[in-house]
Amino acid sequence: MTLDELIQRVEAARLRRSEHLIVQIVAVTKYTDNVEVLKKLYEDGQRAFGENRVQDMEKKVNALSNLPIEWHFIGNLQKNKINKLLKLNPFMIQSINSYELAEAINKRANKPIRCLLEINSSKEPTKHGLPPEEAIDTYLKIKENLPNINLQGVMTIGAHTDDEKEIRKSFRLTYNIFEQLKPYGAKICSMGMSKDFEIAIEEGSNMIRIGSALLSSYM
Ligand SMILES: *Cc1c(COP(=O)(O)O)cnc(C)c1O
Repeated sequence: MTLDELIQRVEAARLRRSEHLIVQIVAVTKYTDNVEVLKKLYEDGQRAFGENRVQDMEKKVNALSNLPIEWHFIGNLQKNKINKLLKLNPFMIQSINSYELAEAINKRANKPIRCLLEINSSKEPTKHGLPPEEAIDTYLKIKENLPNINLQGVMTIGAHTDDEKEIRKSFRLTYNIFEQLKPYGAKICSMGMSKDFEIAIEEGSNMIRIGSALLSSYM
């Protein structure tokens, strides 16, 4: 679908939740090396882009350095890639999946970096992210001890299943944690991808990360 079509579906979904809900779209560009695709999205008005590998992000950041793009890192970050990522000056790191990772970024960063805490809301062993029951303690511990980690909220990947009830459950669990963190400054609840973004928005997501469904009409 085109960006316009996506925006229309987001608009309908957010009104099912609340007319006050504003949903940001991050275009996930990991499926293409062709920066022309990103330029087309940019020309259509897209400003936030997401990548899950530091190396790929580096190429695209360098190729598009003249455009005011917000780069979101959304993948599992290996400790030996932290310096390389920080040099790219990402707008946000969405995938803080342990206290240790936050500590390592905190040490290497020379200014506060916007970050989200990733929650493994479906408890699938193949997924990264904190177990939901540890999320709040970890969030508060990071906030208290790591000044270069500017926590802005939470991120999750919905349950990997066709069972809508299970998907909804994983989003609801994450939203619930988000609500408990709002008094501590949490503003962003990043959930929803190509196949489940409407469910995520109905459950309160205010940031969706869309890859395949969007890129297919630009490639
Ligand atoms: C790939 C990816 C997305 C986008 O996935 P699609 O299903 O292609 O929309 C979103 N979030 C993360 C963390 C990803 O790795």
